[in-house]
Amino acid sequence: MHTKIAIAMVLGALVGWGLQTFAEADYLTTTVMKGGMEAELQVLNPESQRAAWLTPFVMAADIFMRLLKMLIVPLVLSSIVTGVAGISGNKEFGRLGLKTMAYYMSTSMLAIVTGLLVINLTAPGVDAALNLAIPDNFNPGEGSSFLDILQRMVPPNIFSALSDNGQMLQIIVFALLLGTFIGRVAEPHSTRMREFFDSFFAVMMAIATAILKLIPYGVFALVAKVVGETGFEVFVPLLKYMGIVAFALLFHACVVLPLLLKFVGGISPIAWFKAMSPAMMTALSTSSSSITLPVTMESAEKRGGISNKHTSFVLPLGATINMDGTALYECVGVLFLCQYYASTGDFDFTMGTQVFIVMTALFASIGAAGIPSAGLIMMTAILSALGLPTEGALMLLAIDRPLDMLRTMVNVWSDSCGAALIAKSEGDAILKV
Ligand code: ASP
Repeated sequence: MHTKIAIAMVLGALVGWGLQTFAEADYLTTTVMKGGMEAELQVLNPESQRAAWLTPFVMAADIFMRLLKMLIVPLVLSSIVTGVAGISGNKEFGRLGLKTMAYYMSTSMLAIVTGLLVINLTAPGVDAALNLAIPDNFNPGEGSSFLDILQRMVPPNIFSALSDNGQMLQIIVFALLLGTFIGRVAEPHSTRMREFFDSFFAVMMAIATAILKLIPYGVFALVAKVVGETGFEVFVPLLKYMGIVAFALLFHACVVLPLLLKFVGGISPIAWFKAMSPAMMTALSTSSSSITLPVTMESAEKRGGISNKHTSFVLPLGATINMDGTALYECVGVLFLCQYYASTGDFDFTMGTQVFIVMTALFASIGAAGIPSAGLIMMTAILSALGLPTEGALMLLAIDRPLDMLRTMVNVWSDSCGAALIAKSEGDAILKV
């Protein structure tokens, strides 16, 4: 898959460059609001010869994006219900469940805060040459103070929330409740509902995996479109963005999590990393926490000394709901695009927006499935929730794969650190194998 995506990028760039060179084009100047003042933006004239050549690529990229968006609601709903119903129904694991959830939530928050600091300090999105515009009918949503956001998280009508990709927080609140009570109602209802959602989730994952196989074609169409429209200059800010994401991910993985291992659990981070290295390599090469799960469990038990009783609870749960790398990535990616839109369009980028993004990034990482590019599906959900166009997420798809490899590795690394800390606190002899 990696090679196919790389080939798709090169071919897309070649086609785009060919169109730049051989198809005639002229640009129209449109006026946009910039910092409250009018500014000019150059867009390709839709009547020009080059625009006509680009139409199939624009269409293919759009169809791919629609397929991704189609998955948001059913995938998030079934993934959260399945995960939560599994824990809430398992009475034996009350204390372990609480510890695990506490670890997962806190490390994901730490990851998000790392991302927040890094992106605000470096501000790569400000005035980046992305050539994306906010459409005229842009609707920045209702009030976005912290209290407004909290209030709006409660769905007054779950069916209208389910029919709107922008209502991800409402859907997640409902999914958490549904999962919790599926675990608590009497039999046979509990088992029936759990089995239904387990199967629904399995089918959704299968559809998602099939759609995500189309990534190379999506990348090809997209790169051809972007290069054909604007040339290669768009890749300069994207490269800077990649460097910043990679730095923030590595900081979380190499500084924050090792400090927790060392000072909370008294476990040597280097020795633990060595024990978990097969899982790290699998995560890096597959970009999927779910596919890596059996290797993570095997390494944690056979090389790390965690008992099966603990790995079999903590790790499968972690592979679905604990995604530090994805949480960080959602936060950095969406803020990057917000910085860009705030610097070129009339997008009011407030503290409330940042708080909203932090919260949605956390929930998005819980709702993201452990498959390649799942983070991208969630990013379109956050952009829709902000009322921003989702085209930006599509542009980030072009450079997603290397970042996906890295964030999947961070996701799995955090799961394994959590398993080690929790198992140690429950009396397992870590690294004594
Ligand atoms: N590929 C990631 C994982 O499986 C999810 C993501 O796309 O962020 O953990």
